[in-house]
Amino acid sequence: MDSAKMENQTTTLDAVVIGAGFSGLYMLYRLREAGLSVRVYDAADGVGGVWYWNRYPGARCDSESIYYNYTFSEELYKEWTWKSKYPEQPDILRYLNFVADKFDLRPDIQFKTRIKSAEFDETANRWQIRTDGDETISAKYFITGVGCISTANIPNIKGLNSFKGKWYHTGHWPHEKVDFSGKRVGIIGTGSSGVQAIPVIANEAAHLTVFQRTPQYSVPARNRPYTEEEILQAKANFSEMKRQVRASFGGTTAKIGDRPALEDSFEERQKVFGDAWDAGGHAILTCYNDLLASEEANETVSEFIRSKIHEIVEDPETANKLTPYYYYGTKRAIIDTDYYETFNRSNVSLVDVKKAPIEEITSKGIRTTDGEYELDVIVFATGYDGMTGSLFKMDILGRDGVSLKEKWENGAATRTYLGMTSAGFPNMFMITGPESPSVLGNMPITIEQHVEWITDCINYLREHEVDVIEAKPDAEAEWSKHCGELADTTLYTKVESWYTGANIEGKALGFQIYVGGYGPYHQKCAEIAKNGYEGFTLKSTQKSLL
Ligand code: NAP
Repeated sequence: MDSAKMENQTTTLDAVVIGAGFSGLYMLYRLREAGLSVRVYDAADGVGGVWYWNRYPGARCDSESIYYNYTFSEELYKEWTWKSKYPEQPDILRYLNFVADKFDLRPDIQFKTRIKSAEFDETANRWQIRTDGDETISAKYFITGVGCISTANIPNIKGLNSFKGKWYHTGHWPHEKVDFSGKRVGIIGTGSSGVQAIPVIANEAAHLTVFQRTPQYSVPARNRPYTEEEILQAKANFSEMKRQVRASFGGTTAKIGDRPALEDSFEERQKVFGDAWDAGGHAILTCYNDLLASEEANETVSEFIRSKIHEIVEDPETANKLTPYYYYGTKRAIIDTDYYETFNRSNVSLVDVKKAPIEEITSKGIRTTDGEYELDVIVFATGYDGMTGSLFKMDILGRDGVSLKEKWENGAATRTYLGMTSAGFPNMFMITGPESPSVLGNMPITIEQHVEWITDCINYLREHEVDVIEAKPDAEAEWSKHCGELADTTLYTKVESWYTGANIEGKALGFQIYVGGYGPYHQKCAEIAKNGYEGFTLKSTQKSLL
């Protein structure tokens, strides 16, 4: 089928893809190349996914630019030039627009359209999908590319509607510049978004009050422009880079240390951590091989960063408030530009809202149990309902009308096979779904692997005249158990974070990311495909293949 068909007001397609970010754009490119009629739907009025919405001051990616891009096209890689080591949001958005233009993707993207529901019709073996514009689409394949951290968490704090000033969430930032000059600004949240925004807002605002619940470890990014030589070298090295990232643990060329932290003496470790701190970025987390597995090892790096906070922050009381005590790296490791230094500025103050919680937002500002802070602007850097939030926002109904949210018990019993499929939801694929490496890897690389696997799978189904593919419940149970067992060998499950859903009131706790490494995961998925899609039931209307 070459293009969408309208039948009785229903658009008929081979595949519907949700989201025009890294996932959706590449999925569209691949499926169109495979000869399917496919359309991408996105609520935004442009491409970009999370990078369309995350326009807050200082927004930048913490993966290195030359790896934070597609690797499927050498020509694309060589045509695009990154400016700095860590790409800023406008550059990433420009890159994704460049990709959309280069491959002429826009004609098959429907912007300003949200998918409200998707229901599997067991008689027709097709998905019936509805948009917020009341369009109905019938599609054989339903593919989500909704991102892992795209549903904003705006905490339910009493009184927000009464606030007379302006308020923003970092993940839904307006297109026009927000002017902080001369303003009293309050920011709630000190995760990756807050840590990036705080130094930039502090430069402009009359006063910035940071409302911190949990202090964070952060390491200098040491961002800088790339030299011409580095760019030339990266482009010349494309094939080797692609080979390395696709076989790697985390989707980059970063090397993981070859020994446990305690094998070195204190002095040796200080030197190793010191060098990593000076180099900047995430190197400090990978300089030993057990920092995320052993409490004792983790304490060595955590203590090193704590000592750096006390070196940088001049006021000892502020330094104490900024000092974290959870296992470093078990909440998403943060890299920054001048984060701790910002607290030495006279126009910045830090409020510990764990000690004196926020009681309400008033017409004038924020009131904690300690007093009221008068503000002109409030910035919520309060994160996302991660992993399942965007999936649960839609009514996705599988076999017998059971919704994904019901099956997964609102997150308490999330079950997938390979993090891409779920039993009871035939012909549905989730790009970077729960229980895949997703956010623990370099996203564009983990996305490419999913998109390629899904495309190969659909091609296989078409070649073998298979109408329906569905994960087997026992294969799914085994995969979920394996993911859980692997996660329990790490410290990730011992700390409350958005990874575990602890940031969302009422959400069930559960760590839903595959921690076995991107490379081994990639191999496992390839093996399953090679064995004729082991763990899946394949059915044609004429015959059952497995
Ligand atoms: P986040 O890591 O979940 O941080 C949210 C912050 O808001 C935390 O400090 C949290 O405190 C605080 N918070 C939430 N609800 C609160 C409440 N009711 N009262 C007071 N404080 C509250 O969210 P994020 O910073 O947006 O980052 C989310 C993820 O997006 C990152 O981990 C990363 O994966 C990705 N991201 C990446 C980049 C990058 O590439 N550099 C940039 C931005 C985001 P608690 O810790 O106490 O819950």
